[in-house]
Amino acid sequence: MNKIVIAIDGYSSSGKSTMARELARRIGYVYVDSGAMYRAVTLYAIEHGMAKDGKVDSNALVAALPEIKISFEPAGADGVQHTLLNGRDVEREIRDMQVSSLVSPVAVIPEVREHLVKLQQEAGKHKGIVMDGRDIGTTVFPDAEMKVFVDASPEVRAERRLKELEAKGENVNYEEVLANIKERDHIDSTREVSPLRKASDAHVLDNDHMNHKQQMQWLLDLYNVIINE
Ligand code: C5P
Repeated sequence: MNKIVIAIDGYSSSGKSTMARELARRIGYVYVDSGAMYRAVTLYAIEHGMAKDGKVDSNALVAALPEIKISFEPAGADGVQHTLLNGRDVEREIRDMQVSSLVSPVAVIPEVREHLVKLQQEAGKHKGIVMDGRDIGTTVFPDAEMKVFVDASPEVRAERRLKELEAKGENVNYEEVLANIKERDHIDSTREVSPLRKASDAHVLDNDHMNHKQQMQWLLDLYNVIINE
């Protein structure tokens, strides 16, 4: 059967990574979390004193891009694919609030986007890939055979994110998480380069009132329709 490219875009904490990862596993495709790549670049910037207090030294970061190597380790015992920054497993650190609060300002830097989009396109050149992010169906793979745009209200997303962070032992409150989600929505959808928007040919998955199982079924049904066209 011909392999296709599947692009899943949507707002922060809409549950798209969980769905994309599971879809890839179910159909035997490679999964790439493009947000993890922006997060890894952000962690590098923080660790090298190029990002703090909401500000990023974009000149220094752009100059350092050739030194930043991002790779993925296939899912291990925990079932989760781990992100490596220059060979170091940073899966946990890239999800913390410090990185979350600086990642959108890093992701507006055109050279950072150009660099990561190239890596993402390289990863998908043999198809058989599910990639999730903000601009996958619009910029990275405008010709993807299957495009999904995941939507959910900021409040529902904040509750999901809060649960995830609490489960990891982070000490955060609902208001803080909701504010971060709204802030990222705003920066992501108003930036000049590749703003977050639905591709005209994307299928919308509004998951406010859908459980995980229903969402997976929706995705698999769509995949089956497209693959048999
Ligand atoms: O998907 P996740 O929430 O982990 O992404 C973190 C951030 O990375 C987003 O808020 C956005 O600023 C940026 N991002 C992006 N383009 C992508 C994926 C993520 O700008 N394709």
